[in-house]
Amino acid sequence: MRICRFNDDRLGIIREGRIHDVTPVAKELGTFSYPLPRFDPMIARLSELLPLFDRFARTSPPVDVSEVKLLSPIANPGKVIAAPVNYQKHLEEAAADTKTFPQHHVRRIHETGLFLKATSSVVGPGEGVQVRFPDRRTDHEIELAVVIGKSCNEVAASAALDVVAGYLIGLDMTVRGPEERSLRKSVDSYTVLGPWFVTADEIGDPSGLPFELLVNGEVRQSANTRDLVIDTPGLIEFASKFYTLEPGDVLLTGTPEGVAPVKPGDRIRATIDKIGTMDVLVR
Ligand code: MN
Repeated sequence: MRICRFNDDRLGIIREGRIHDVTPVAKELGTFSYPLPRFDPMIARLSELLPLFDRFARTSPPVDVSEVKLLSPIANPGKVIAAPVNYQKHLEEAAADTKTFPQHHVRRIHETGLFLKATSSVVGPGEGVQVRFPDRRTDHEIELAVVIGKSCNEVAASAALDVVAGYLIGLDMTVRGPEERSLRKSVDSYTVLGPWFVTADEIGDPSGLPFELLVNGEVRQSANTRDLVIDTPGLIEFASKFYTLEPGDVLLTGTPEGVAPVKPGDRIRATIDKIGTMDVLVR
């Protein structure tokens, strides 16, 4: 199933490219009192909600995707974990351009480890990216984004896909420069998630997904998840050695070669096979 969030926090199911509003199902999530949970309630109860979404979608008139403002399908990710330099050719392009990429950031992922992006940076494709420092370089990075479905810890790679709820397209927008990644990549609107959440059963094996990113119609990044240095199960194993993973946590798996700057007015089009395409305006 494909689930989106749109306009004023409405929930929708995508069928044949159109959205069926299923917002009343969200009432099933109830209300929460202080202290609030650290997980995303919709993802935490996904298996109960899917049949309800299906039932509501049948009687809800469809709306064209182009007519709505798409928000991040994950409303409340407890954390956004990201993998630095996780494609060999991106490591090579970064190592070759010492002016753009301070070399203390250019190491193998096994040495660097993972990093966190502030959840306040998360937006949906309909909200766009707001360039914060126009005098510095802000780059696009397209990444397969994995959504965790279960609370889990110390997950073996061999069992890791069992804790995955589904997948999204992620843009890990980045200010280039000398500071820590978590700062440069946590600017408001610098984590774009969308266009919709695709449940894991529709993807199957997440290795071998071709994907590409265009800016103003020109291909900038084109790669395949089979070329990840540490693959999706390996990243879940790595992350869960350090953090308890919770439903709705998002794992950005890393970007391939071709990263390049964007400027206000640019139109990003990001596509991952089996997930879909999202258009994002840079402001
Ligand atoms: Mn990245």
